[in-house]
Amino acid sequence: MSANTPITVAKGDGIGPEIMEATLHILREAGALLDTEEIEIGERVYRRGNSAGMEKSSLDTLIRNRVFLKAPITTPQGGGFRSLNVTTRKLLGLYANVRPCVAYDPYVRTKHPGMDVVIVRENEEDLYAGIEYQHTPDQAQCLKIITRGGCQRIVRYAFEYARRNGRRKVSCFTKDNIMKLTDGLFRRVFEEIGPEYPDLEREHLIVDIGAAKLADTPEVFDVIVMPNLYGDILSDVAAQLAGSVGLAGSANIGTEYAMFEAIHGSAPRRAGQNLANPSGLLLGSVMMLVHIGQSEVAERVHNAWLRTMEDGIHTYDIFKEGISQEKAGTREFTQAIAARLGLLPQRLKPVHYYAAPTRTVPPHAETASSGRRELVGVDIFVHHAPADPNIVGRLMEPVSSDGLKLVMISSRGTKVYPDPLPHTIVCDSWRCRFQSSTDNPVITLKQVVAALGRAVEAGAEIHKTEFLYNYDGRAGYSLGQGQ
Ligand code: NAD
Repeated sequence: MSANTPITVAKGDGIGPEIMEATLHILREAGALLDTEEIEIGERVYRRGNSAGMEKSSLDTLIRNRVFLKAPITTPQGGGFRSLNVTTRKLLGLYANVRPCVAYDPYVRTKHPGMDVVIVRENEEDLYAGIEYQHTPDQAQCLKIITRGGCQRIVRYAFEYARRNGRRKVSCFTKDNIMKLTDGLFRRVFEEIGPEYPDLEREHLIVDIGAAKLADTPEVFDVIVMPNLYGDILSDVAAQLAGSVGLAGSANIGTEYAMFEAIHGSAPRRAGQNLANPSGLLLGSVMMLVHIGQSEVAERVHNAWLRTMEDGIHTYDIFKEGISQEKAGTREFTQAIAARLGLLPQRLKPVHYYAAPTRTVPPHAETASSGRRELVGVDIFVHHAPADPNIVGRLMEPVSSDGLKLVMISSRGTKVYPDPLPHTIVCDSWRCRFQSSTDNPVITLKQVVAALGRAVEAGAEIHKTEFLYNYDGRAGYSLGQGQ
């Protein structure tokens, strides 16, 4: 049996084939033990009518090899094409996106010379769960899904990553002051898991002030862990701040599978001209080598690359008169790195990768919350043209009966009934909240079903319902603003 690690590679579109060839050449020269198997993904596959951009047989290859080195692809313009990245992440359970954003001052121009931040982004949940509804002509909804298991996986990954890479601090950004149940859960899990890592500092910041601080003084951050949407936005901001969008690689990690890539796209206008900078994919491949336990090779490649940057051998995208020594094409840049394998940078800090294995992150929630769950109400969402809230109130009051009463109506989240204020703006979706009318707050599903029947009888156009649960007596739902 070969001692090599099997990996799947995809050369992608545009500059993809050139930067993949450069990357694989350097890895081979550095002594990486790899068996590569190639699959076709991207534009040509989309154009053959495959809306996912990847054939089923390629997915089988990915599953067999477990490790995927992917060059950027071109997503054709127009509708009907699904994002290959999102599909791959979800199918392979790649829950963590890891993106180091490093300044290489003075060799690459940056506003923040001391910046060395790693963004660890949750990669599957949040508003990217892809569950959206058009409720009424006026109102659409995107569900923000946050699970305890998802938070545990990403938060634990961030702490493990920090420890393994000699980092000192993990910061967590959420908006838990507004989204108390979803972002609140993310923060709570961060605070539950953090004390297991007493050697690491930890802090939580509201994402808006965190983002402002990241833009202003990124050098105060080390590892930052975030839910999906904030991480998506801020990892691009951080890469740009470091001055190195074209230089950044990223890893997508799951419990079984992993995918490594550059963060930039396929730059079709630069393709085939020996211009492309292979650094992003190369640094992605360095993360891959660490992941598969070839840390020494990773170190050799990364340090040779740092030395090349220092020696001023730069591709056109980072070339600066007065700083750079030589404008290199893709091939010359690749040869320069290969020639420096075994050398260390002299002014930039050399990297050192630890051989410690990644602690396995459990695929399921480590402890399910054991709270007592009780049904205490139902929100019946009704489609009704924008109107005086008292009109909708009169429509829904007859539903109050059989131990349930209408306690509130809200529109766009703001309570408008009873006692509407004259200037509250309403839309054509009305949330009518029914709760117990007796001393016992707990209600039954049967009462809910009967209430829905009465609402239909009353002529209400129901478009959605949500159950209200208490967990150990604590509300598992938000109150209407103003309730
Ligand atoms: P892009 O990242 O491809 O290019 C943006 C700019 O950066 C261009 O000016 C380009 O010339 C330059 N550039 C990017 N990478 C470079 C490199 N390695 N060397 C030198 N110059 C480089 O972004 P775009 O133009 O918005 O997108 C082009 C295509 O890439 C689109 O089809 C998009 O959907 C796709 N895309 C794919 C991925 C991916 O596969 N992960 C990511 C982003 C964009």
